Amino acid sequence: MKNKIKPIASFLIDHTKHKQGFYLTKIDELFGHKVYTYDLRFRKPNNNDYLDNAVIHSIEHLLASAIRSGENGGLVLYFGPMGCRTGFDMLLVDIDYEKAKKLLLKAIDVVEDIDTLPGASEKECGNYKEHDLEAAKQELKKYKEIIE
Ligand SMILES: [Zn+2]
Repeated sequence: MKNKIKPIASFLIDHTKHKQGFYLTKIDELFGHKVYTYDLRFRKPNNNDYLDNAVIHSIEHLLASAIRSGENGGLVLYFGPMGCRTGFDMLLVDIDYEKAKKLLLKAIDVVEDIDTLPGASEKECGNYKEHDLEAAKQELKKYKEIIE
């Protein structure tokens, strides 16, 4: 018997029309709460200007830490990079689009003042040498201007 694989919500987005921005991909109901999946699209899909791995890795460390340190940090379910290297996924509990955008912009502001990358020692990270803090901060600044 063959198993059928269902298309997931993010595959239903038309990536030929998708642009840089901040998007709500889907809302799931779970244990009486709403889980919002957000698409932080830093680069236009299939545009041959993919994010550098070291930059992605540092943005992951920076934003994953900053959003969890802020108000409502306990409602952050997940933050991580997309394998296609054009953006990040963020899962928040009971935080709608406008609130999520505010939370994200605030986190990016916090990151601007960070001089030491969080969790970047050999003990804390699986590839601690592959980081680029300055380029990550520049990338976040550009992204903020796009979504503001
Ligand atoms: Zn790491």
